[in-house]
Amino acid sequence: MSYAVKEIFKTLQGEGAQAGRPAVFCRFAGCNLACDFCDTDFTGGDSFATAAALADAIEQVWQGAREHGFVVLTGGEPLLQVDAALIEQLHGRGFEIAIETNGMFDAPAGIDWLCVSPKSIDGLKLQRGDELKLVYPQDDVPPEAFAHLPFRRFSLQPMDGPALADNTARAIAYCLAHPQWQLSLQTHKYLGIR
Ligand code: SF4
Repeated sequence: MSYAVKEIFKTLQGEGAQAGRPAVFCRFAGCNLACDFCDTDFTGGDSFATAAALADAIEQVWQGAREHGFVVLTGGEPLLQVDAALIEQLHGRGFEIAIETNGMFDAPAGIDWLCVSPKSIDGLKLQRGDELKLVYPQDDVPPEAFAHLPFRRFSLQPMDGPALADNTARAIAYCLAHPQWQLSLQTHKYLGIR
């Protein structure tokens, strides 16, 4: 299959459990949802004919020590396109692979850090993983709906936008009252990096 990719760039992971870690971000084009709080442009970009071609492009952007290679597959919704062939090609180039997904599609085996960021309760297919990162608050998608699921880390991330300050205060209060959850800040926005 071919892969539609909006952009590939190297930066520091800004949010969640891996915040601060150098990574190549591969942002896939397209999403199955249209959240009104979405802060990501995932339209347009390039097409890669094969998994090997896309993995080559990611490797070119990394240009760092191979043993620390880290790629974050994101979107849009990456699981509309990520498949076993791409996982194999990236692992073959020494990359540790993280993915950030809304959790509504099955994931191929072998992903090293599976981060699910639910946008609804009903459609959630991926009910286990490494990190559950919830944008907060979302109507009808409360943290309590996910607290019982087998994830290693629970991150609560204030929703960006005009109410960010209020949302941050609410997220802090929630974490303090429910210490299973850790605050996730979008540090790249504070730092002015991508
Ligand atoms: S699931 Fe994520 S990428 Fe897709 S529209 Fe919602 S916030 Fe944007």
